[in-house]
Amino acid sequence: MKRYSAFAIAKEAMRQHTGWDRAWAKREPKKKYDVIIVGAGGHGLATAYFLGKNFGITNVAILEKGWLGGGNTGRNTTIIRSNYLQDPSAAIYEKSRSLYETMSQDLNYNVMFSPRGVIMLAQTQHEVRGYKRTAHANALQGVTTEWIDPARVKELCPIMNIDGPRYPVLGGLWQARGGTARHDAVAWGYARACSDMGMDVIQQCEVQGVRQKEGKVVGVDTSKGPIDCDKLGMVVAGHSGVLAQMAGFRLPIESVALQALVSAPIIPAMDIVVMANTVHGYLSQSDKGEMVIGGGTDGYNNYTQRGSFHHIEETVRALVETFPMLARLKMLRQWGGIVDVTGDRSPILSKTPVEGVFVNCGWGTGGFKAIPGSGWAMAELIAKGQSPLTDEFSMFRFREGKFIDESVAAGVAH
Ligand SMILES: Cc1cc2nc3c(=O)[nH]c(=O)nc-3n(C[C@H](O)[C@H](O)[C@H](O)COP(=O)(O)OP(=O)(O)OC[C@H]3O[C@@H](n4cnc5c(N)ncnc54)[C@H](O)[C@@H]3O)c2cc1C
Repeated sequence: MKRYSAFAIAKEAMRQHTGWDRAWAKREPKKKYDVIIVGAGGHGLATAYFLGKNFGITNVAILEKGWLGGGNTGRNTTIIRSNYLQDPSAAIYEKSRSLYETMSQDLNYNVMFSPRGVIMLAQTQHEVRGYKRTAHANALQGVTTEWIDPARVKELCPIMNIDGPRYPVLGGLWQARGGTARHDAVAWGYARACSDMGMDVIQQCEVQGVRQKEGKVVGVDTSKGPIDCDKLGMVVAGHSGVLAQMAGFRLPIESVALQALVSAPIIPAMDIVVMANTVHGYLSQSDKGEMVIGGGTDGYNNYTQRGSFHHIEETVRALVETFPMLARLKMLRQWGGIVDVTGDRSPILSKTPVEGVFVNCGWGTGGFKAIPGSGWAMAELIAKGQSPLTDEFSMFRFREGKFIDESVAAGVAH
């Protein structure tokens, strides 16, 4: 694969850009792979990447029923932070955030990581207590966050109205090295690196069945025919319940649409990310100038990848109090993605009742930030059967009552 560099761009410019390779090869499935990953979202692709990079396992196929990055990875509002409360969460999210810092260099692909800082606003006394507690926990975990007062919030984000009337800003949890990245680029960068290692990224290939022999996985049935494998990673976010059913077990998970919208582009107005969880919305400005606005989940389980009118109304109405300037913006488009939510708002990275089948899901409304860390940990779990980063995230914790309660840190009420 040709390295991307200023020199390569200059060289290609001289010959009308005729010398670039395809970013990833278009391949048909082989008969058998060591590992099949179902789902070419960020988590599936990162898992495959670290299988190759950290463990030398490259006889891998990543099967995607649509187009790569076309699920939640290409639909999210790209907030990256690691200010979670519980130790296992802080460990995996901070690993992930730190991998984002060097991702563009590691992949030789510009993922536009922008550590511009993230504030989670406290607009009730309950949130003040919750976020101060998280700041203390983060200090013990080695995650750099700080509690800031309303004056500092206003200094960081002058367009904000901190005076209420319903919900004045009482302070916030600030993570200076949180931020955003370009979502598609994360998927494309990993796909290119996987393809370069000889892995097959196969789009338009839906997994329709999981074949087993004596309790062990032996392959999958797909829309492109049967494919054998020794190990199978299910990394399909909102469709995890569907895949689990194919393999014959149930997951403690619900699928529900989460929505977002963007405004028409405007001049630079804010250079940080703000999450306002009481009024329920989160906001950043894209490099193109659009205000990127995240809303809430639908109040009922569903598999739609669409937005709905009542959510635009609810989200914008909620945010206008804290960001009055939003009232004057025109909205460009709205969309939804199917997120996979667990009871304790923490993910599942786990072995399953079927030998050789592993599952990575339950990232719910907040898994974009976790892509590299999750891929790192999931690859270790698949390659070695155990990973210190996944130990606490087994699907069996729900049976054992060992929950990892992150409902305060989840950012979106669901
Ligand atoms: C509107 C919205 C805003 C969000 N905002 C944020 C945010 O700001 N920050 C953050 O950290 N997270 C956010 N998230 C959550 C984040 O997007 C997800 O947690 C993350 O992208 C999940 O990645 P994934 O790779 O697990 O899933 P996906 O990207 O959904 O990939 C799963 C893939 O599996 C494929 N698939 C499903 N079934 C099959 C099958 N049978 N065969 C083959 N392929 C199959 C799908 O087509 C899909 O491409 C948001 C989500 C949404 C919807």
